[in-house]
Amino acid sequence: MTIGKKLVVVIPAYNEEEMLPVTIPAMSEVLDRMVSAGKISSSSKLLFVDDGSTDKTWPLIEQYRQINAFVSGISFSKNYGHQNALLAGLKVSKDADVVITIDADLQDDINAMEEMLDRYLEGYDVVYGVRNSRETDTFFKRNSALFFYKLMDKMGTKTIQNHADFRLMSRRSVDALLEYPERNVFLRGIVPQVGFKSINVYYARNERQSGTSKYPLGKMIKFALDGITSFSTTPLRMIVWLGVATLAISVILIVNTFIQHLHGNTSKGWPSLMISIWFLGGSQLISAGILGEYLGKVFFEVKQRPRFNIAEDSYTDK
Ligand code: UDP
Ligand code: MG
Repeated sequence: MTIGKKLVVVIPAYNEEEMLPVTIPAMSEVLDRMVSAGKISSSSKLLFVDDGSTDKTWPLIEQYRQINAFVSGISFSKNYGHQNALLAGLKVSKDADVVITIDADLQDDINAMEEMLDRYLEGYDVVYGVRNSRETDTFFKRNSALFFYKLMDKMGTKTIQNHADFRLMSRRSVDALLEYPERNVFLRGIVPQVGFKSINVYYARNERQSGTSKYPLGKMIKFALDGITSFSTTPLRMIVWLGVATLAISVILIVNTFIQHLHGNTSKGWPSLMISIWFLGGSQLISAGILGEYLGKVFFEVKQRPRFNIAEDSYTDK
């Protein structure tokens, strides 16, 4: 029954030559254990996605492939980024029954993979790896990450707290995910939208053992902005509110100027100038906001996201 599920572990790797000699044996051991326990088939794979590395990452993967039956890989023509690497892995592993995505640097607890698989075998389609502490992250990383999550949440991008891209997905949930044709991928935002039965598995996040973070601040800010602008039109709507506020101020100003004028407290030309500036400014912002509202509609239309995903169906004959 459950024996023989093919698991593919998708591992993006960008200049990870220092990590691979540690990562590959460690992950192979976990797979071995699960094969022995009869939880997964022996055809299960580690699928490395070399994201255009400039070091020995790809030759290393190929080298390991000769001596380790679990190892396989694809190599990008250039650096396309972590999210695209994950997506490529999901696309390529068409014959997998179940896929786990995990970073190459062993920061995520590889032993949690077995627990994830257990949850899958119990019938869950999506299992999120959630870190229960950020103690091992630097003070800066911890707080900047917290800030970005808060901001994203406020802006209407719903994500699982403290979950990065360490997750298990069943065949059907991956298939559903691949139906989202958008070019700007922010998987943490899309996966919850795909739906299906999901559960969290908790683990302690380790420090990166060797090599350096491939996510410097610049990349992280871009990532967070992508997360917001690919999922929410809240920033556009904020323009309308700014316009409304400005217009409200202009009304107060008009009344105030009128009163001051009656008392003879204003110099010539000043009232009309002030009123024009505020009133026109407010009107323009509201106009821009209205354009934004339509742009927001177009934004969601061009994404061509599926309207729904079906979990059970007793109508269609199978
Ligand atoms: N990565 C990638 N392409 C990139 C940057 C990173 O494939 O352009 C991979 C990297 O090799 C690692 C994972 O994405 O497996 C997460 O990167 P990293 O550990 O450097 O990020 P951090 O944990 O510092 O946020
Ligand atoms: Mg890392």
